[in-house]
Amino acid sequence: MDSDFADLRANAERLHVGYCRYLNHLQQDGPVMGTGDRLTIHLDHEVILLSDSYEGSNWATQVEVLLHCASCEETLEVFVASDDIIGLNPHTYDLLEPHVDHDVLLTHSARTDADDQSHTQNGVISLVCVTCNTDSRIPKHLWSHETSDWFEDLWLKI
Ligand SMILES: [Zn+2]
Ligand SMILES: [Zn+2]
Repeated sequence: MDSDFADLRANAERLHVGYCRYLNHLQQDGPVMGTGDRLTIHLDHEVILLSDSYEGSNWATQVEVLLHCASCEETLEVFVASDDIIGLNPHTYDLLEPHVDHDVLLTHSARTDADDQSHTQNGVISLVCVTCNTDSRIPKHLWSHETSDWFEDLWLKI
């Protein structure tokens, strides 16, 4: 079998199992996914940063950076550069724009439980740049979000 096709099928099957579990979780009144959870779905997928611009209202050109998953053919986040729009992530655009067309990856660090049980640190999903790791072996950290503890159990233990 063609290996690309096998990868696509394995990805689709994993997504299917994950979403079935998530639906079941919602039917039991579980909380909905947050941003970090939505990104964690695309762990190990081929994510890329794209720059985009278009003419918005008032003929103003709107410039954006898109976080896109090539494996799922889905845009995950949009970061707007315009200063006349109250963007959700006004500073994240400036941070991500230099890394457009670099090799980026999503990485996940698992939840850690401290000994006294009172300090549980949620897991974190991070976007890192592999191209910009010249000074150290550690990829440059670009952006991250916490993941929900229930989501890790639900999605990462399939
Ligand atoms: Zn994906
Ligand atoms: Zn970079």
